[in-house]
Amino acid sequence: MRIDSEDLKKLIDVCTLCGSCNSSCPVFEIELTEPYSPRGKINLIGEFIKGNIPDSEKMKELISVCLICDYCQNSCSKEVDFRSIFAGYFSLAGHLDKDNVFD
Ligand code: SF4
Ligand code: SF4
Repeated sequence: MRIDSEDLKKLIDVCTLCGSCNSSCPVFEIELTEPYSPRGKINLIGEFIKGNIPDSEKMKELISVCLICDYCQNSCSKEVDFRSIFAGYFSLAGHLDKDNVFD
């Protein structure tokens, strides 16, 4: 999926960072740290797109462990579009390749 930074910002701005989705995430259930939670991932990508943090291997790893189960999206009252946000990150950070499921 190809997306520009303005579109990605709009998708991220829908999120109020309420955290209601965190308990639905199987990755967060195991790791139990905020960067592995759905909210944490959106927050990280938001800071990246604003230029406040650089991309990094750690950030790529954090987003890559997503199982694309959609539990977070289904539990979000704002209908935040996780798939498009994660795909937008991979696209803008230059991480799309043949092995990337978001490509
Ligand atoms: S994605 Fe939805 S449920 Fe999760 S923190 Fe953002 S607004 Fe809240
Ligand atoms: S789609 Fe990813 S971030 Fe959302 S609940 Fe599933 S594993 Fe967690």
